[in-house]
Amino acid sequence: MSYSRLDKFKDKAKNILKRTLDSHITLAVTGLSGSGKTAFISALVHQLTEQANDKNMPFFRVVREGRHIATTLVPQKALNIPTFAYRQAMDSLTSKPATWPESTKRINTLRLAMRYRPNRGLRAQLGDTATLTIDLIDYPGEWLMDLTMLNMDYATWSNKQLNMLRSPVRKDHGAEFLDVLAQFDSQKSVDETELKQISNTYKHALRAIKQHAHAANLQPGRMLIPGDLEGAPLLAFFPCQAPQLKQDNTQYAQLEARFEAYKAQVVKPFYKEYFCRFDRQVVLVDLLRALKLGPEIFAEQTDAITDLLAFFEYGKSNLLRRLFSPNIDKLLFVANKADQVGVNYHQDLALLLHDLVKSKANELTFSGVEIDTMAMAAICATHNKSVKEKGRTLHCIYGKPLHEENWLTYLPPQPPRYALSKAQWPAHGFDYLDFAPMPNEDGTLRHMRLDHALEFLIGDKVR
Ligand code: GDP
Repeated sequence: MSYSRLDKFKDKAKNILKRTLDSHITLAVTGLSGSGKTAFISALVHQLTEQANDKNMPFFRVVREGRHIATTLVPQKALNIPTFAYRQAMDSLTSKPATWPESTKRINTLRLAMRYRPNRGLRAQLGDTATLTIDLIDYPGEWLMDLTMLNMDYATWSNKQLNMLRSPVRKDHGAEFLDVLAQFDSQKSVDETELKQISNTYKHALRAIKQHAHAANLQPGRMLIPGDLEGAPLLAFFPCQAPQLKQDNTQYAQLEARFEAYKAQVVKPFYKEYFCRFDRQVVLVDLLRALKLGPEIFAEQTDAITDLLAFFEYGKSNLLRRLFSPNIDKLLFVANKADQVGVNYHQDLALLLHDLVKSKANELTFSGVEIDTMAMAAICATHNKSVKEKGRTLHCIYGKPLHEENWLTYLPPQPPRYALSKAQWPAHGFDYLDFAPMPNEDGTLRHMRLDHALEFLIGDKVR
């Protein structure tokens, strides 16, 4: 039987329909600096493009069911966002000696195309393969913290920042700025050089608070991670007490104008052009580092998690919902770097993270966002090692501590299952170690539960 014109037409129609059924998802990854975003994206791309088999990713259904055909890197569509340096990251991770890649300092993107065999719905009836395009977006969590600025005028924002600078965790690092500010005449006419100098002092205060006190709620976020705004005059502002009488053309008026410009030209566009286009969001949290740094920092970090969660709760009163219309319908909180403790403690870590998010999780679910929490390691830097001692089995880890020469078998402390108060904090604290990456001999990388994360984040898109 010859291939009739009708058949030809049918095939063409089927192909067009099939193409329209190919789907797309924007998956955003965030977390405060050092939380593991760069490692997470590198691992995700590596595991999907080179190691997607049922032994390595048994909990990612499309892979387990043998329906994953291949995932490849394809050119990104968004030409205004820098490309995530995947090859460079893999070179560092697999060099000899292996090193961690450079951390996220701006927004980055990368596009993957995943070809698979659908097993459900129209896609399955229309043909044997379909493609899911995945846009990965990696951005500093510090930028999210700016959202609340949109709700404040300059005077309110200044009061809040100045009060925070006097808090116990921050005051030592903010002292120099507060001294300079005390000498500052906000009523005189604009002195560009002075404004620049004082905003630099403020920037140093914020950076010192971040580095030494590991505080998370610091504004403006671009002073910490400026992205392409490094040195821009838009960033030359700082909090300042409001004068009794506001006048035009004064230093105060200039600071107020810059604050408003920052909101309009930096914060709003970030939400409008990026954030609102994300479909799914992963938030990485380095709970082990927060535990290691003690009760005050732990409290700061847990506050930051609650603040972050509030952004995704799209109830009527939510600022984001009122200003923009966000899309995110799945939110995954990850206690990352779980390979820094033995496998027997992963459950504790997951429970601790759950304890931190649970108060908000219910409201989030109510407003239509599916939320999950898990402990995982994007890139394992240790091996598990059981050691027998006095008839007991100790679940140790084995690896090369960062910046050290020798390999070590280490028994990390058990993480608590819920947030401890200062009074409950153990006297010996929580000493966790950072390790150098440990690629396999063949240059592949190991992960823990990245397949669980993928199933939650994109599993429903590849049925
Ligand atoms: P970013 O600032 O969020 O991009 O964080 P990075 O991805 O650069 O990670 C910061 C540091 O955390 C790295 O240099 C590593 O020391 C460590 N790290 C990141 N991911 C992992 C992981 O999965 N396991 C372990 N053990 N360490 C990790």
